[in-house]
Amino acid sequence: MRSWPWKSRRRCGRARREHFRSPLPRTIIPAKPHRGRGRRTQGWILDAHPDYERDSVVLWLWTPSGVHRVEDRTFRPSFFVKVPPPELPDLQRRLGILDQVAATRVVMRRTGLAAEEPEPLLEVVPRHFADLRDAARIVDSAGKYYEYELYDVDLRLTQRYFLQHGIFPMGLVAYDGTWRALEEHFALEYEVPPLKRDVLDVRIDAPAGIPRMDDRLLAASLGDETVDGSEEDVLHGINALIEDRDPDVVFTDGGDAFLMPYLQKKAEASGVELRLGRDPGFHGTRSAKSYFTYGKIVYKPSQYLLKGRLHLDRGHFAVRESGFAGLVELSRLSSLTPQEQARLTPGTAFTSMQTNLAHRDGVVVLWKKNLPEAFKTAEDLVLGDRGGFIFEPEVGLHEGIVEVDYASLYPNIMVKHNISQETLECPCCLLNGQRVPGLKYHLCTRRLGLIPRVLRPLVERKRYYKRMKKERTPLQEVYEGRDTILKWLLVTSFSDIRGTATRATAASSATRRSTRTRATSSSTPCGSRSGRGSRSCMASSTRCGSVPPPSPAICVR
Ligand SMILES: [Zn+2]
Repeated sequence: MRSWPWKSRRRCGRARREHFRSPLPRTIIPAKPHRGRGRRTQGWILDAHPDYERDSVVLWLWTPSGVHRVEDRTFRPSFFVKVPPPELPDLQRRLGILDQVAATRVVMRRTGLAAEEPEPLLEVVPRHFADLRDAARIVDSAGKYYEYELYDVDLRLTQRYFLQHGIFPMGLVAYDGTWRALEEHFALEYEVPPLKRDVLDVRIDAPAGIPRMDDRLLAASLGDETVDGSEEDVLHGINALIEDRDPDVVFTDGGDAFLMPYLQKKAEASGVELRLGRDPGFHGTRSAKSYFTYGKIVYKPSQYLLKGRLHLDRGHFAVRESGFAGLVELSRLSSLTPQEQARLTPGTAFTSMQTNLAHRDGVVVLWKKNLPEAFKTAEDLVLGDRGGFIFEPEVGLHEGIVEVDYASLYPNIMVKHNISQETLECPCCLLNGQRVPGLKYHLCTRRLGLIPRVLRPLVERKRYYKRMKKERTPLQEVYEGRDTILKWLLVTSFSDIRGTATRATAASSATRRSTRTRATSSSTPCGSRSGRGSRSCMASSTRCGSVPPPSPAICVR
């Protein structure tokens, strides 16, 4: 398929011998309800995944002495149902006899960011992890798909686990039966463990030029070592190389799209058990799909996530744009494991950060939002969706030109003016809210919105790493990666804001509000001639009583 730097070659004989070594040379720490202190292990959370067969969450802890597997069988995910209070006892009784449901209880939770007080909800604990969706669908159909509102149905199990225990992926933790984070979640300076990284590649006899699933496997390489021989030899050789070199991160090129399904097919045909992870098999496997986004159809291959080590495709967006350092930064911020995060967009990371913050505030997240845009008059549309203002250039040769660059323009505007779904047209500031220039809307001056709360630390991080990457330190490359991924996180955050914040607020006019938000933002780059109140917009930025003072948004270079 491609030529490698073949530094050394090994024959299949050794590969065969090593295949029969005993697998999983690791310490396995069973998690149990904590009574007193157990043996303490300290390390970084490399990966986590649910085990649907054992109803447990498995975490992989990287330590200098090796990778530890921690399995927690005490974790029980749940979801919430909002029903008219008179119907609650009847629904609770009916759910009690369902096979998929282990327990139900009435709890108090806030169902939206704008909601001041918690309200009674029915918490449903499924019998098995795999029953969660089924149970939710049954409840939804019992409410004829519109009478009941369901919450916290589609949160990832590992994300729930991290939230419940106050830990996060790639974070330093201590474990002795209970988890304890040993560093701040949003620490600017943090250590990334020295993970061992190798590239896995294969050589294929591809007479058609493009390798196909039926083409013959000739050889494989991991790092600078290779194996060849018959297909069976090569597969045994890959197993042996993985076990021998024991990488923490396996990089591939097109791993999800071709290499992994190809190897899996070859392994099945040859009767060889392929062991690429520290536990056998893959997790989180899902079928390939195509979807429509931003005017084009995108194909998303199925994913092949390894257990206990990371399979990363060098073509994945975060890895390609910002290297491993950027991916680690994103994973820590979003609480999505590096393998998952690598296959998702920075926009999903932003959504996840909003969900995490809402969860910490005691707010549950609505499932299946379906909030149509509210009616708007033609005048509203014209005024609200003006788009950007472009200055006509004066044609000619000019000297002494100054370039003005806005640092994180939209995010800074949203932080400064407290723009968020629940702060726009809030009921608490009808008389003294901050007016949106040129429009009849207002912003809250009493409460800080979810989006500014998520954005503010990101804007500050970006500023810090941008400064640090210019200093000649051994970590320059790391700072560059973090700075780059934060740039993408802030760029894509705006379009994704509409998704989750809508879910979190559950306000009927969320989509409409977001559109207004865009209009508000685009009116604010205070140029000298943009007109329509943009100057007053900047001038009035500090009026919000409870909103922290803004930080400088514009840098001139
Ligand atoms: Zn208000």
